[in-house]
Amino acid sequence: ITVSDLVDASLKRIRAVDGKIGAFLNIDEEGAKETAKKLQEKLDKGEKRGLLFGLPAALKDNIVTEGIVTTCASKHLENYQPIYDATVVQKLKEAESVVLGKCNMDEFAMGGSSETSAYKITRNPWNEEHVPGGSSSGSAAAVAAGEVYFALGTDTGGSIRQPASYCGVVGLKPTYGRVSRFGAVAFASSLDQIGPITKNVEDAAYVLQSIAGYDPMDSTSANVEVPNYLSALTGDVKGLRIGVPKEYLGEGIDPAVKDAVMNALKVLEGLGATWEEIALPHTEYAIASYYIIASSEASSNLARFDGIRYGVRSANASSLLEVYEKSRSEGFGPEVKRRIMLGTYALSSGYYDAYYLKAQKVRTLIKQDFDRAFEQVDVIIGPTTPTPAFKIGELIDDPLTMYLNDVCTVPVSLAGMPAISVPCGMVNGLPVGMQVIGKAFDEATILRVAHAFE
Ligand code: GLN
Repeated sequence: ITVSDLVDASLKRIRAVDGKIGAFLNIDEEGAKETAKKLQEKLDKGEKRGLLFGLPAALKDNIVTEGIVTTCASKHLENYQPIYDATVVQKLKEAESVVLGKCNMDEFAMGGSSETSAYKITRNPWNEEHVPGGSSSGSAAAVAAGEVYFALGTDTGGSIRQPASYCGVVGLKPTYGRVSRFGAVAFASSLDQIGPITKNVEDAAYVLQSIAGYDPMDSTSANVEVPNYLSALTGDVKGLRIGVPKEYLGEGIDPAVKDAVMNALKVLEGLGATWEEIALPHTEYAIASYYIIASSEASSNLARFDGIRYGVRSANASSLLEVYEKSRSEGFGPEVKRRIMLGTYALSSGYYDAYYLKAQKVRTLIKQDFDRAFEQVDVIIGPTTPTPAFKIGELIDDPLTMYLNDVCTVPVSLAGMPAISVPCGMVNGLPVGMQVIGKAFDEATILRVAHAFE
């Protein structure tokens, strides 16, 4: 089997299923074939292979790729051709993976279903009437449907973990700072992280190994040594102490999801781990705090999409102010506008203290909840999402319920901790995931636990 065979098999699979699934926005068939040929030549010469040698992959469309249109699933960027590669894209190239294309997502990563994409809806490969989750919708669906070996997503408040849970695949949000954000179009800079979506935990370890590490191009990138994640997959969880937050299994959590997580805990117990109930008492304020902080940062980050610096310029403007106004009104979809308005309000003079500052204080309390818990336990386990994937259209007119869906993922994001979602059961024919949360920069332990369970 040659690298071209691998790439052709993926392209064939995409042609067969993606008309229905809709995971991709853009496929770089020519580029992928070219790369496959070059890699094969290296192989034939007997040269050393990269860690992801020859593996077909996909990228969420908010990760910039030199010369390949990067839309963030927004009309505003329909023609945007970046002039550089994101650091993670460079790293995938160094690891010798083959990037096949760019995946659908919620517009600018705001949403959890793909329904805010300006281009199309992605369908859940397990049941096409249901959403795949989001905002890394296409990335998770492409992996679940066997279109690529792995994908990269971004996670600001759950956008890797939630679609992984809904699609029955593995999704890992690294510790804030572990993976460079250089070249990931910013949504909320203090929360955004890039991470892998894969078929299994071992693959997640391989991909994380390839993309993690300090990057001088990202001032929030952490200069912390990257351990060998592959050697962490020992299968051994004897003596591991697990904390199970009671706030993650209470009101609003589907009892069938709770059962799946409890069964998973039994499996880990059978392997020699122990678990105890813990408290993360500020969980109930996490959603409110997250949506204020994320929207505030978004309102500032998205100021550059004004039709001049970035974005499609309105053809109907007759003054400078109108260029801004009309380009932004025509370019952004309703969810993005909602966030910009919320964020602008929360940051405005007179309201800053009441909203933004308060939210930041709550964020500190949430971080302290985790710090306190991790004095007692090695990992924290709970559901990734309160329910399995909902139906397409079910929540689109109900943003608040949509936001409440993020209750188990946003606290982790606010605290900057790493977490992995791994499939733990089926509810009504749809997969659900268990979330394993770790100490900061301790991705090795959550990979070990998820791998032992899997
Ligand atoms: N669903 C959350 C939101 O809409 C998470 C998004 C994300 O992680 N990018 O903000």
